[in-house]
Amino acid sequence: KSKEKSGTYYHFFESEMSNRNLESIKLENALYKALDNDELEIYYQPQIDSKTNTLIGAEALLRWIHPTEGMVSPVNFIPLAEETGLIIPIGKWVLENACRQLMKWHAEGHTELSISVNLSGRQFEEDNLVSMVEAIIKEQKIDPECLHIELTENQLIRNTGVTIKKMKELKKLGVKIAIDDFGTGYSSLGYLKNFPIDALKIDRSFVQDIEHDSDNAAITDTIITLAQNLKLNVIAEGVETQEQLDFLMSKDCYIMQGFFFSKPVKATEFAEKYFINSSTLH
Ligand code: C2E
Ligand code: MG
Ligand code: MG
Ligand code: MG
Repeated sequence: KSKEKSGTYYHFFESEMSNRNLESIKLENALYKALDNDELEIYYQPQIDSKTNTLIGAEALLRWIHPTEGMVSPVNFIPLAEETGLIIPIGKWVLENACRQLMKWHAEGHTELSISVNLSGRQFEEDNLVSMVEAIIKEQKIDPECLHIELTENQLIRNTGVTIKKMKELKKLGVKIAIDDFGTGYSSLGYLKNFPIDALKIDRSFVQDIEHDSDNAAITDTIITLAQNLKLNVIAEGVETQEQLDFLMSKDCYIMQGFFFSKPVKATEFAEKYFINSSTLH
């Protein structure tokens, strides 16, 4: 009887698995067509200097508007894009379009703005990553210092030798590099010494509840001090409340991103918000 039971269970499990595979195969097929079908769009989230209360840049965040499923979160399709290798053409598309958008904003007079683009560790495995970035910078005629590349710790430690070499080449172009989701990865702090980086982005899980959670407050405080001592810039992600903003400012962290200021929005909305009705930042 117990055999029968486990047999049934096995069958149930198997069909669950193949259903899931079917879903992910469907998603994969749809993702293949997403680029050609113009289903990808970049949203922009403002980065604010809270000391001067000015807009200093934007992070480019990819959105996939699936024809039937609606908006698919990058959390769900970026891993699939990495597995299938689609992240290579998609990542290039994001970089090109984000740089083109920045160039337009610069041409309209907002020359102080920078653009942050997330790169996948998978892109660092490509031989032509650096030449691709260089070509896009030249094509769009943007100041390389205005391009900020974001990489997570876990992506950094995938292939350290090659990654460090490419990061150094990117730095030679003048591009800035930030560690995203800092503090959530599985790497040792020692890498901060070896990787040529310019900034740490405090993960939003630490910023969340900073007013009430003394552990989060301690971790955030420590990351800020670490960045200051290493002479790195520090950016707080996921700032949602005035209290969080006040805490961060009291610790001398001034560069902020979060829903308190704005969610990621379409380029047109970004321009309306900041360039046309630029009376207030939040
Ligand atoms: P990330 O680079 O850490 O981006 C920040 C994420 O936090 C974004 O989620 C943003 O919408 C969200 N966020 C910002 N402020 C707040 C806030 O105040 N509260 C809360 N709850 N969330 C906030 P999103 O856009 O869903 O992106 C998720 C992740 O997907 C990104 O995390 C990044 O790792 C990845 N991603 C997005 N676009 C790209 C891309 O073009 N290429 C690659 N490789 N990865 C990307
Ligand atoms: Mg990011
Ligand atoms: Mg992040
Ligand atoms: Mg993240």
